[in-house]
Amino acid sequence: MNLHKFNSPLKIAFLSFVLISNVFLSCSTVKHIHAEKPINTHNKKIYTQQKKIYDLEKMGIKLSNKFDGARLNNVTQVNDTMIAVSIYPENAPINNSAFYAFKIWSTNPKITYVQFKYSKKYSHRYIPKLKTSTTKFTPISNENVFFLDSIYTIKLNLTKEPLTVSAQEIITSTDTKNWYSKIISSNPNLVHYKTVGKSVLGRPIPMLDMYTGNPKNKDIVVLLSRQHPPEVSGFIAFQSFLETLLQNNELSKIFFSKYRVLVFPIVNPDGVDLGHWRHNANGIDLNRDWGFYRQPEVKAVTKTIVKTAKKSDGKVVLGIDFHSTQEDLYYTSGTMEGTTIPHFYDEWFSAIDATFPNYTPNEIREDSTQPVSKGWFLRYFKATAITYEIGDETPRSFVKAKAKVAAIEMMKILNEK
Ligand SMILES: [Zn+2]
Repeated sequence: MNLHKFNSPLKIAFLSFVLISNVFLSCSTVKHIHAEKPINTHNKKIYTQQKKIYDLEKMGIKLSNKFDGARLNNVTQVNDTMIAVSIYPENAPINNSAFYAFKIWSTNPKITYVQFKYSKKYSHRYIPKLKTSTTKFTPISNENVFFLDSIYTIKLNLTKEPLTVSAQEIITSTDTKNWYSKIISSNPNLVHYKTVGKSVLGRPIPMLDMYTGNPKNKDIVVLLSRQHPPEVSGFIAFQSFLETLLQNNELSKIFFSKYRVLVFPIVNPDGVDLGHWRHNANGIDLNRDWGFYRQPEVKAVTKTIVKTAKKSDGKVVLGIDFHSTQEDLYYTSGTMEGTTIPHFYDEWFSAIDATFPNYTPNEIREDSTQPVSKGWFLRYFKATAITYEIGDETPRSFVKAKAKVAAIEMMKILNEK
């Protein structure tokens, strides 16, 4: 349209309209999505953990929470051979994701019993994983676990070498960065790094933008993890899934010639490093904020997805959010008609099922009314979405093997699409 044909007032009016509509467009990149209001924890005080070394002088035992990912709120001596550790959530109400992590050592070798104490309403959830400076995290053996007076108690052989006792393997934001940095350097033409925003406490929210050639018009798959800090088994699945996509074989070459993958490996870095049970540094459940965008982490991730899709004329076709719960299961959407890949769930699960004859995946297929990522992908893009849940104690070798098959079968289905 040639503006010179307008007379002055009309021209100003037209330019104002263009200006206003551009401002409107750039402000409204992420629209509000209707969902049930979550439990309000906005005004619930955060219980800050005091970082220190607890010195039980008489017993010659010390404990520490002075490291990223630690959670230990108090230590007391019960008797000559027993101590109690108190573990509190960051704030409440909160799910019973009773995460703990501390180091313990003694001046002289000795056997010590450790009781776990939680505030009311909460109970022991995770089997302790033990690690020294030379060993990997390994679940404690059954013979060293007791219920004394209905309290979860463990028996430890202490030495002067610190023993890490943790609810799950500790994978901090630094560990995560070390992992994805290697992925980026080994796949320089495929994996493009971007910091998409900052957490409440200023930690970066990383994204790996994966594509070959020109990303324009490519359908988009979104992968995310660690909205909930202790859900490490889900993160281990996520790592194996991602590494399988990058195996550089024929299947993945075809996949990346057709698709762009936006990967958010750590959505809640503050919660992870602070040893939180579930929430971010504001005491909010991030997977109840998709649609409201009150938290900077969710705001950054959703805005990036929406803007990236818009800029490249790409369509978000699939979203997979990796979590952990008591057992392996998939939360899927009840609505399938009119979605991006209506046949995906049935094809995907039956292919995974066929590979592991002794394993039957549990699926809960319903539209969520809560503001969770799965519902957001469905409502915002009509996209097929899954919350991929791994059991807290599912053997890690199986977690990795299943995620590998899940990635291969996803690529097969999408390559055919
Ligand atoms: Zn979760």
